[in-house]
Amino acid sequence: MTSCILADNPLLDFSDLPRFDRVRPDDVEPAITHLLGEARKLIVRLTDDDLAATWSSFAEPLTDGLEPLARAWGVVGHLHAVNDIPAWREAYNRMLPEVARFYAELGQNFKLFAKYRAIAASREFAQLPTARQRIVEHELRDFRLAGAELADELKPRFQAISEELASLAAKFSENLLDATNAFSELVGDEGELSGLPEDVRQAARAAAERDGKGGWKFTLHMPSYLPVMQYADSRRLRAALYRAFATRASEFGPPELDNTQLIRRILELRREEAQLLGYANFAEVSLVPKMADSVAQVLTFLRDLAGKARPFAERDVAELRAFARTELGLATLEAWDVAYASEKLLQQRYAFSEHEVKQYFTEDKVLAGLFRVIETLFSVRLKPDHAPLWHDDVRFFRIETPTGDLIGRFYLDLYARETKRGGAWMDEAVSRRRARAEFRAATPDGIQKPVAYLNCNFARPLVDNDGKLRPATFTHDEVITLFHETGHGVHHLLTRVDDLPVAGIHGVEWDAVELPSQFMENYCWEWSVLPEMTAHVDTGEALPRALFDKMLAARNFQSGMQTLRQVEFALFDLLLHSAFDPAGERSVLDLLNEVRREVAVIVPPEWHRFPHSFSHIFAGGYAAGYYSYKWAEVLSADCYSAFEEAGSAFDRTTGERFLNEILAVGGSRPAIDSFLAFRGRAPTVDALLRRSGMIAA
Ligand SMILES: [Zn+2]
Repeated sequence: MTSCILADNPLLDFSDLPRFDRVRPDDVEPAITHLLGEARKLIVRLTDDDLAATWSSFAEPLTDGLEPLARAWGVVGHLHAVNDIPAWREAYNRMLPEVARFYAELGQNFKLFAKYRAIAASREFAQLPTARQRIVEHELRDFRLAGAELADELKPRFQAISEELASLAAKFSENLLDATNAFSELVGDEGELSGLPEDVRQAARAAAERDGKGGWKFTLHMPSYLPVMQYADSRRLRAALYRAFATRASEFGPPELDNTQLIRRILELRREEAQLLGYANFAEVSLVPKMADSVAQVLTFLRDLAGKARPFAERDVAELRAFARTELGLATLEAWDVAYASEKLLQQRYAFSEHEVKQYFTEDKVLAGLFRVIETLFSVRLKPDHAPLWHDDVRFFRIETPTGDLIGRFYLDLYARETKRGGAWMDEAVSRRRARAEFRAATPDGIQKPVAYLNCNFARPLVDNDGKLRPATFTHDEVITLFHETGHGVHHLLTRVDDLPVAGIHGVEWDAVELPSQFMENYCWEWSVLPEMTAHVDTGEALPRALFDKMLAARNFQSGMQTLRQVEFALFDLLLHSAFDPAGERSVLDLLNEVRREVAVIVPPEWHRFPHSFSHIFAGGYAAGYYSYKWAEVLSADCYSAFEEAGSAFDRTTGERFLNEILAVGGSRPAIDSFLAFRGRAPTVDALLRRSGMIAA
């Protein structure tokens, strides 16, 4: 009976593309239950004491055996994200706990660790290709960081710390969300709305009405908070929202939502966890799987960047203060004036309308431009192709060699829908690898070719008043987003590695994985590309150079100040997890003040409680990793500058080298080795500074 249902289950068809034409929510439970069972059986077999630990008897069957579950669950997760109707949500949520439990157990299965250790100690190891040695090393590393080498009597404590940390992180975000929701400001006097855009006023009015009140209701959620800080002429309103925002989840609010003790406890537990693992502090643990070598290296990096950005940041602040005084009549520039005055200065200096820019980025032109960039840079061809799809909006393409051999394929789902998760993302449907035995005959060269999902949330084409379909137009930020995700896409698709765990983005260090995506963004600022990539929706005219120059100037507006702000957060995060003793005299706020004295050009009020809402590091995955934003920006800007030095953004040999040394190798070697091979030297911050207008070109 069961096997009958399973035989026809589209989630269990791994012969080619996901069967979006056939898969139904009811297929999820039987398929995933079956695959979890198979995976568990396999693990029991592979961890048998009598099984020889070799690549072909252990590592390969394990990768092979875990892939079907990952692929099938990937399809379910994808549908949950892009077609979040009740039936799919229910099907996804019903199996999620079981799937999560399986992967948690896998990471704690130290019998697997023992087998990998035996491979590493065997004579075979030295004979393995370096990509496979790296896979074994990654496994050993991850198991070690999960406590695999702890003495047995310490393991329960380690486990308890992990569990407490997970619940503290959840509590931290809950407090922050509840504190964010707890505040609202009801404005009764219409005069206080001066400066606010019409749509923001309407939203505030509707929010008050929902509470059965008159007037306008403002909250600390971004769509309400940001426009107030940016546009509201009322200094009182700005100050009120600023203070409420800056003191969320702190001792200034309800005690049950105060994150002060959680922060201390999280830091203590992380420190204890690090010491159990044999490291001096948590920052060292965080850096083990990252590209950065040591805390000292990252500190030097951040301080170097801060030093170079400082004169520009000081100039930015001086300009802003002078402007606020003379043009806005603000004798002192308070923290709640900064965004407001900056917006006014930006408008005065580089006034251009986002809406005007948007008219030039019509969908067909943008896609054609993007495809041409990829084809030219990497000597490939892109063509429309056919596949079962989950929605009529979706398009499907193939990437080929110039002689017509298939390299990879991707889905493009551009438009926002009510049932689609927000934001933009790249995800993998199929990864490149040597095909499993049962499919090898059907693949001409024995290689399973990669497939990617590219998802955005852009506005779809609309029918205008004359009943004609008007092409979709994108903001410049949306175009940048599309290029960014495509950068992740080509990293996944253009890999030439045949071992799945290090093919494409697999196994790439966390602080290097944004290199290809940020690299691709540069082409949205490349004048040699833009005229080809734009056509005004009404006139067909390409983007005028004068408008582009304004966009470029606005891009670098206050880049000194912005850089120092990011460095301040990153430095605070890193020092907090390395040079700070949670049990000591000095408080978290003392440390933050020291960091600010070192790098900040605008110091917030004394009552500001930034750490209490720093969820990146207390509730997200960024602890001792916030520096990665700037780190990856430096790498990508430095890579792009290799093209500038070669005289063209499309220089053929440089493009080939980027493909061969960065994209194609994926995670099969350390990111620094790939960078060195491409650039011929270590990364420097100069290219990023130049691009941001902080060094003369
Ligand atoms: Zn990204």
